[in-house]
Amino acid sequence: MKPAVPFLDLKAAHDELSNEIDSALLRVARSGWYILGPEVETFELAFAAYCEADHAIGVGNGLDALELALRAVGVKAGDEVIVPSNTFIATWLAVSRCGAVPVPVEPNEFTYNIDPSRIEAAITPRTSAIIPVHLYGQPADMDAIIPIARKHGLKVVEDAAQAHGARINGLRIGKMADAVAWSFYPGKNLGALGDGGAVTTSDADVADTLRMLRNYGSRRKYENEVLGVNSRLDPLQAAALAVKLGCLDAWNARRQSVAKRYLDELAGEPLTLPFVPDWADPVWHLFVIRHPDRDLLQKRLAEAGIETLIHYPIPPHQQAVYASCGFLSDATPMPLAQRFSAEVLSLPIGPHLTDDHVSQVISAVRQSLRS
Ligand SMILES: *Cc1c(COP(=O)(O)O)cnc(C)c1O
Repeated sequence: MKPAVPFLDLKAAHDELSNEIDSALLRVARSGWYILGPEVETFELAFAAYCEADHAIGVGNGLDALELALRAVGVKAGDEVIVPSNTFIATWLAVSRCGAVPVPVEPNEFTYNIDPSRIEAAITPRTSAIIPVHLYGQPADMDAIIPIARKHGLKVVEDAAQAHGARINGLRIGKMADAVAWSFYPGKNLGALGDGGAVTTSDADVADTLRMLRNYGSRRKYENEVLGVNSRLDPLQAAALAVKLGCLDAWNARRQSVAKRYLDELAGEPLTLPFVPDWADPVWHLFVIRHPDRDLLQKRLAEAGIETLIHYPIPPHQQAVYASCGFLSDATPMPLAQRFSAEVLSLPIGPHLTDDHVSQVISAVRQSLRS
């Protein structure tokens, strides 16, 4: 049975813009230009401007954006890269794909983002970079992280896959680090009609290297300078993204108003609500609550027709791919990441959730906590 309140309605976002998107797709189809070219360049310029960065480089997906950004700032095989213990697996996979080792650092208990005060203890002579993740659309504490990186000569690559449009002290995420990786997976705040990704940066050399890396390591056709890949943002996706970018601020504002209602109307209930530091403007990719009896709460909400999801049920260090590889000794447990994975629950949020839906979610949560 279809839930009364779906977690996210992707088709509604498309329907709002379907005329413009349809004609953009047709324009690409009829142009005869199907790899990189003007549609990709137009979107790259618009997205860089939106992020207040000097350069945007469109790539195939968010995981490639992270991997290529790491390689462009100089991360190489054998390096260690500091990652949050509490993140989506792609953050770690990007490090592994460079032949480097992800070194997890536990989150702040209130923001769920990497805890800057725990980073220095994880730095070794092999550490070359830090990846802060703006998880759930809540900005990580870049003002604390960047000075630590500079002090130790480390590069910083932001994982902004969930944070299109978020701000720190009024400044957009997109250029504070050496490189910032984005995903346009359909469910993200800015989503394509398939896979897509980008890297933004204000470092011209990093941008230049990324343009080579995504295109066979080539600057000029049939001249290959570095070990590149084929990971180029598709012009069809770029054309659709350029249309959707025009709506991003309005959609984020709508998410913000849903979040405000949840925060106001669920305050005082016996659950943990998201915490927003006063320097942060989150974009509410997800609205994540915590409850010790999460599975029961999720079951009751499902019975009330409210679809919820868990981000994420298994932390990366407990995934089979990493649990068996031996670089994480038993001496480095990740109790916060583990606890959060057992307690987090994502309520429906998105630009097309109606006021009535929000009211239904709020009353169902209240009901479930009382029964
Ligand atoms: C979605 C996501 C990615 C990966 O993006 P893809 O486009 O799916 O490869 C990376 N990091 C985080 C935090 C994400 O949410």
